[in-house]
Order: sequence, then C-alpha cells, then structure tokens
Amino acid sequence: MSLSRKEFLKLTGKAILAAGAVDSGIFLTGCNTAKGGNKLEYKIKQLNLVHTWTIARNSSDAKNNVFVKYEKDGTIGIGEAAPNIRYNETPESTIETIEKAQPIFDKFDPWNFVDLGYAILDVTKEQTAAKCAMDIAVMDWVTTKLGVPLYKYLGLDKTQTPITSFSIGIDTPEVMQKKIREAEKYPILKIKVGKENDEQIMKSVRDVTDKTLRVDANEGWKTKEEALEKIKWLEKMNVEFIEQPMPSDMLEETRWLRDRVNIPIVADEAVKGAADIPKLAQAYDGINIKLMKSGGLQEALRMIWMARSLGMKIMLGCMIESSCAITAAAHISPLVDWADLDGNLLIANDPFKGATVENGKMILPEAPGLGIKGEF
Ligand code: MG
Repeated sequence: MSLSRKEFLKLTGKAILAAGAVDSGIFLTGCNTAKGGNKLEYKIKQLNLVHTWTIARNSSDAKNNVFVKYEKDGTIGIGEAAPNIRYNETPESTIETIEKAQPIFDKFDPWNFVDLGYAILDVTKEQTAAKCAMDIAVMDWVTTKLGVPLYKYLGLDKTQTPITSFSIGIDTPEVMQKKIREAEKYPILKIKVGKENDEQIMKSVRDVTDKTLRVDANEGWKTKEEALEKIKWLEKMNVEFIEQPMPSDMLEETRWLRDRVNIPIVADEAVKGAADIPKLAQAYDGINIKLMKSGGLQEALRMIWMARSLGMKIMLGCMIESSCAITAAAHISPLVDWADLDGNLLIANDPFKGATVENGKMILPEAPGLGIKGEF
C-alpha cells in the first residue's frame, strides 16, 4: 500500500501518540542534501517531563520536539522547534514547513543569514517554531565556523545574564508544595494560575515559600473585572509581575486593567514578532519574547530593540525545550530584564548539555557557536 505524504505524516503522528514514554525516542527523520553542499536534516525526539505539566489551557506528560541539523563545509549547526498547539503547530506541520524551506538553503550563502532568514520567513509564515529551528541552526553554524560563542559574536557580556525563574505547573496543593521544595535552589518561582482555584493555589504556595513570585494566567481570566479582582489580591502577595491575565485579543480591557493595578502586566500570548509590539505598548508594561514565537534569534533581537525603544520591560521565556533552544535563548539573555528559561529543567531526558543554572543565574558555555554538547 502506498501512502501519500499527508497520510504518512498522519499515521506517524498517531504512532508518536501511541509510543508513550520512550526514553529519547526518535520517531521520524528526514534529510535533504542539496546542491552547494547544503545538508539539512530533521528528527522528532520525545522529551519526557519530570512532572505532568498543566497550565490554564492543557496538560501533558511528554512533548515531541523537532530538531534540525544544518551542515556545510564540514561544520554543523543544530536547532530546535517546540511546536505549540496554541499557535496551530504540531510536529507534523513543523516538518512539512522545514521541507518546504529546504530548497531555500540552495539559494543563499549562510553567511548572508539575514536575507536567508527573511526568505525562510516567506515560506514558514505562522509556523514560527519551524522557522526558529532553522534560524538557531544557521546562527550556530555561523558562529561555530567563526570559532566564537554566540554571545561574544553579538557583543554581549556573559556576566550580565539574568536570574531565571523556575516554573511550577498547576497541580493539587500538596503536589505544588512538593514541587516548590524540589525547586529550593531557584530564588524566583513562576506560578501558573488562571483556573478556578487560584486562591487555593497561591495560598498553598505562600504557606511554604516567601520567595519572589511571578504569576502567569495564560489568558485564563475572561473579564476585566475578574482580572482586576485577582490582581488586587495578588498585589498583597509579593508578586513581581503578572503575565497575560486575559485573552490576547482583549487589548482595550488590558489597558483598562493596567490603569487600575500596581504590578507590571507582561504580554505573552499577545506577542509573537516585532510588528506586534507597538500596539501592545499602550496596554502592557512588558513583553515575553520566546524564540519559538519570534521564529528564532534574529527576530528576537529585533523585538528587543523595538521594545526598548518603546520603554517596555523585556522577559525572555520558553516552551518545553531541550538545552539546545534554551542555550540559544540564554546567549541573548544579557539583553533582557527577566528570564524564564527553565524548559530544559522540566524534562527528564534532555538530549543536549549547554547553558546551566547556578543559584538561579544563567551560565553560558564557552565553546564556539551555541556551545552545546549532545547527539543530534
Ligand atoms: Mg506565559
């Protein structure tokens, strides 16, 4: 029986779901060797979570991320995509997008990575995780070839990396308290709220810790009155900022809310790329940049300059990602106010080693490129 590509991907998708908890499972690989000596490979790897991960929208035990290897002139660059269903992305759509972009690598010299990035953007459109994987791989290739760590190439000071928060997913009060005790070495915690039991969650957290808390509602509060009441209550609980209190399209309501509260409001789901930022400046105090939303490092840097010019605070966040994408983000973290780069700390079978965390502070590797070690 011969299958169309679409049917094949559909079946493979089901196999991925059926596979369950397989350590470092690799499910689907592809390779394209093109003229000009460009080679672009991809692999889906299952990342198993230490704890079931629950936020206001959904719950999961494992994530299937797509890894990309770009090879030319004997040097390789590695990148990662963490597809997110919130943005209509799946591992299958990510692979389809990477395959669509593969011919573009024949037309551009990777040293011309700015034009290459825009050309890839033309075909990847809204599939920003796929774009991100290719962008990270190209920037890793360029800086590895130059023999310098990415942060150094960008002119950044590695001692200026911020302290990252550690995220505690929604769970029963007992399990959340257990997670908080396990997170002892992280000085700042990020708490997910946005369901019916916010008060119970916050109270059980405050019963066991007096650390600084960042609170993320993941669009969970549906009216401005509800959001105002919750934030007024959170103001009394040593909360540093509140992330995405209401759905991303409620810009007017968020502006109304900001006029009435005393802690900063940070946009996450409401912002993907630089073009989204100017309109958000009227309703939010800061933005949460994630490489998976921006489509990689190059657009993330454009977002940083844009947000700074508008006087906004900048947070650098992540999805559930391995040390590949987390390390890429860590390299630009000296430019931001707040980091939430803990995606790799939440998985049990990280295929890579890269940036580490010491007493909450991000420590960058010294090897050229991303400086990650591990098997593609
Ligand atoms: Mg968030």
